Amino acid sequence: KIVLGIESSCDETAVALVASDRTIIAQRTASQEEEHAPYGGVVPEIAARAHAERLAPMLEAVMDDAGMKLADVDAIAATAGPGLIGGVMVGLVSGKALAMAADKPLLAINHLEGHALSPRLADETLEFPYLLLLVSGGHCQILSVKGVGKYRRLATTIDDALGEAFDKTAKILGLGYPGGPAVERLAREGNPDAVPLPRPLKGSKEPHFSFAGLKSAVMRAAQSGEHRHADIAACFQQAAVDCLIDRLEHALAETGRLPALVVAGGVAANQVIRAALEELAATHSMRFVAPPLALCTDNAAMIAWAGCERLPLGESDPLDLKARPRWPLDPEAESVRGAGV
Ligand code: ATP
Ligand code: MG
Ligand code: FE
Repeated sequence: KIVLGIESSCDETAVALVASDRTIIAQRTASQEEEHAPYGGVVPEIAARAHAERLAPMLEAVMDDAGMKLADVDAIAATAGPGLIGGVMVGLVSGKALAMAADKPLLAINHLEGHALSPRLADETLEFPYLLLLVSGGHCQILSVKGVGKYRRLATTIDDALGEAFDKTAKILGLGYPGGPAVERLAREGNPDAVPLPRPLKGSKEPHFSFAGLKSAVMRAAQSGEHRHADIAACFQQAAVDCLIDRLEHALAETGRLPALVVAGGVAANQVIRAALEELAATHSMRFVAPPLALCTDNAAMIAWAGCERLPLGESDPLDLKARPRWPLDPEAESVRGAGV
């Protein structure tokens, strides 16, 4: 089976064709970094307009790259949330139109499910269940992934997502947007012990994350003028790593050992974080699986792949389905101080 995937929930417009045997037949991703850079973050109206302008030509280009027609596709998978509602609607409406025109099933994909299943696209040996650290621009969660559609959230952030903390740190250090890769680069030249920074919720009996206090501490360290920016970046990254490892240890104490530790989402592109997670996995005799960098940040291959996973389960969605700006992967998880679904 071949699934056409469409992603437009944030600032990446992306289209991909993926086959059930895990072949990425064709894919294109257009980032809107240049449009949003002057504002230091994603501006929803600009994002929606850019998606609307780019999606149709990109769909055509991907079909051309693959040498395929819509008739050759078995289903259309489009992100239906969570994300910036204007952008999500652009992609979802296009997906519905294609599904209707070609008389193919529509699969409305939860963007987080795309991230959560992306490691299985990259690694065919990765079986359920696995412990997933989902770290992205809008989310920081630990989930136990028991199967397609079977996600139990064990922890979430009570304030900022980790990607958000990277982006804010980059802004404070004058590194511009997007911040994650820039902070990682600068951190390579810094001493990770030079600046004392907090590890919020480390050792807490609660399972959750918190990064707001870390961000404020970064702000104070920068304003003091006493530290090299590279040292601040390195210490911020180290504090983030320590928090991730501590919270994963907490989760593992709850679930017991699972066969694999898996990381996904944009922040999973970070090499220092990947190395620390790999070490943690080894300590617990767990396999460690991280998707290649291009599958970590937003892309449409993961959306098409989520479609490939759902299609054999006989699933499809109605064409009047609504876009959902908020859409938790685990509907049973309690909201935590109103934040971090
Ligand atoms: P969500 O998936 O929660 O809806 P999103 O789609 O905007 O949010 P992603 O594209 O998955 O997020 O991830 C983008 C985030 O990843 C940004 O915050 C970015 O700074 C961060 N990021 C990307 N590369 C790196 C890196 N090398 N190190 C740290 N963070 C990174
Ligand atoms: Mg992005
Ligand atoms: Fe994402």
